[in-house]
Amino acid sequence: MKRNLTLFASFALLFCSVNANAQVTEGGYHPCGTDQMVAAALAADPVLKAQFEEEQRQAAEADRIAYQQGYSFRKTMLSGSRSAQQSPPQYIIPVVFHIVHDYGTENISDAQVLDAVRILNEDYRKLNADTAGIVSTFQGIAADASIEFRLAQLDPNGNCTNGIDRVNSSETYVGDDGSKLNYWNRARYLNIWVVKAISNGAAGYAYLPGSAPTASVDGIIILSTYVGSIGTGNYTTARALTHEVGHFLNLLHVWGTGNSPGVTCGNDNVSDTPTTKGWTSCNLTTNDVCVNNVEENVQNYMDYSYCYRMFTNGQRTRMHNALNSASGQRNSLVTTTTANATGINNPQPCAPIADFTPVNDLYVCEGGSLTFTDVSYNGQPTSYNWSFPGGTPSTSSDSVPTIQYNTAGTYSVSLTVANAQGSDNFSRTNYVHVLPAAAQYTANFYQEGMENTTIFTNDWDIENPQGNGWTNATTAAATGTRSCRLDNTTAMAGQTDAFISPSINFAAMNNPVFTFKVAFAQRAGSENDRLRVYMSTDCGATWLLRYTKAGTNLSTRSATTNAFVPTANEWRTETVTLSSVQLSGTNVRIKFEFESDGGNDIFIDDINIQGATGVVEAEDGISSFNVFPNPANDNSTVEFSLAESQNMIVDVVDLNGKTVQSVHSGNLSAGMHRLPINVAELSAGMYFVRLQNAEGNYLMRKLLVE
Ligand SMILES: [Zn+2]
Repeated sequence: MKRNLTLFASFALLFCSVNANAQVTEGGYHPCGTDQMVAAALAADPVLKAQFEEEQRQAAEADRIAYQQGYSFRKTMLSGSRSAQQSPPQYIIPVVFHIVHDYGTENISDAQVLDAVRILNEDYRKLNADTAGIVSTFQGIAADASIEFRLAQLDPNGNCTNGIDRVNSSETYVGDDGSKLNYWNRARYLNIWVVKAISNGAAGYAYLPGSAPTASVDGIIILSTYVGSIGTGNYTTARALTHEVGHFLNLLHVWGTGNSPGVTCGNDNVSDTPTTKGWTSCNLTTNDVCVNNVEENVQNYMDYSYCYRMFTNGQRTRMHNALNSASGQRNSLVTTTTANATGINNPQPCAPIADFTPVNDLYVCEGGSLTFTDVSYNGQPTSYNWSFPGGTPSTSSDSVPTIQYNTAGTYSVSLTVANAQGSDNFSRTNYVHVLPAAAQYTANFYQEGMENTTIFTNDWDIENPQGNGWTNATTAAATGTRSCRLDNTTAMAGQTDAFISPSINFAAMNNPVFTFKVAFAQRAGSENDRLRVYMSTDCGATWLLRYTKAGTNLSTRSATTNAFVPTANEWRTETVTLSSVQLSGTNVRIKFEFESDGGNDIFIDDINIQGATGVVEAEDGISSFNVFPNPANDNSTVEFSLAESQNMIVDVVDLNGKTVQSVHSGNLSAGMHRLPINVAELSAGMYFVRLQNAEGNYLMRKLLVE
């Protein structure tokens, strides 16, 4: 390859901003995000940038000299009586995989990680079977990179590890430098973080030596579906890790100075890789695009063709030079001290670290059963000792026990696992939710106006697994002063948050209609924000989808990039179609679930389930309906305004619809009214305050008595 030393003075141009999302390959694979991340790191730190550029200049100069010598020095070291493939590797790098997970498919198995390491070692020793398919032009320079990767056997504290660390965190849905949890010293370990999603749309990214903004983010982050060829992986995507490790060891994309493949002819400062624009498809025939009659190395691991299968001798030399350089502490990865500190030459079994997760859900009706599964790691347990307070049986020695719960309540679960190397215990409190077999609400109506501040502590369940999500808020309201708001600005793409109703007896209602009010504005670039409504007739063990809307279908106004807070006319009433299963359900729960695509907040208000004989909405001149204080323990006040004088019945009813206190009956003048409720004579619990006019139309607000 022709060399151009002036190129290095303007090296930063190589890393102009890259929109990784634009680079999906012909096969639909995700691109690599390395250029983008390195560019951002260098732009933010002029000192880092200057040092990095000098190191890159030196690497290029070293390549130039090695090329003049025909890369012979390294070749000699690999030759001898045995073939290169049979020689011991020149370098062995300790590796730790940090599986950042939320107990989903991204929590890939040990076997899948081992498979990824196998593929890495094949590719870096030229033992990959598809070497046979390297086109003839490059057969002669396809290199055994002579680098081996071994899972760490000792962690930074000297404790036994299998080199596969597992961290339960919502960062798995984010996938950026902040998701690089449990970093291990980069001078001793190549850190590889495995996540469910990567925020810049890439399959993964690495930092070139000397380009990481801090040591603790140096390493590789990669999608769980791009690790190994089994489980959630496949052999094509698995080679992306080979590509990222190439970056970690200072290899550039083969097209070098272009932002994206297929745009500009360039080079990678490796003298035996031809000038190319780079490829997003596997064109092995007419690919002399940059220089006439000079075939391009489409099959190189550092291209995007996804038919990659080789490094060149020059790339091997450049990686070896990186492992002899202090840049990014790569040289300390391959010392005897590091090998000893990480135990890579002394594999040994470890004690397990206890962990578990439900097989399905954590909600069950009284008398129902739940199944749990062991997901302990670091060592294979030989015994399981579960504790299930409130369950039957209350202990188990199975790895996947099924437990019956007969009494409503919230219960803890604990697991101790052990093998010959040791034991570990893990407990979760308030983990299992057992609901009464009989519905909590049995009146011929149900209404939730979101006016009660304690809705999520006393009545509805909330599931915000990643922290911020649904809250009871005063930001906006369809009626009253409160609604339920989802904080979508801090939500991560793919995050789901839900709130779940108490149990309601639909069968007690006459052909009920289920409505709620929604307000939402789509944000450009976030077309997949989605609201779903589910219903369960088995206390939440299983859920049936009854409503789903996203993007413009969900929106109640035009799209906006401003923070959305609905006005009064930006609410829409939605009707949820009920099946016979729900219509006849004596114990029905409703779940509102929002899946974030990072757009605007969404608001829900006025959830009504109303028999056909009733009328929920007062179009009758009643406004400013409120009950305060709420919750209450001695007195409370019902407040409302009438547009004109009319006969009104105001009473407090229980969850069965029975009147328990008559507040007022008779004519009231136009204007604001405040009537006292004698809370002291009511038992603790949930009630409705009901306003009813002469036509029989009514409005209700919940009242919680403490
Ligand atoms: Zn790349």
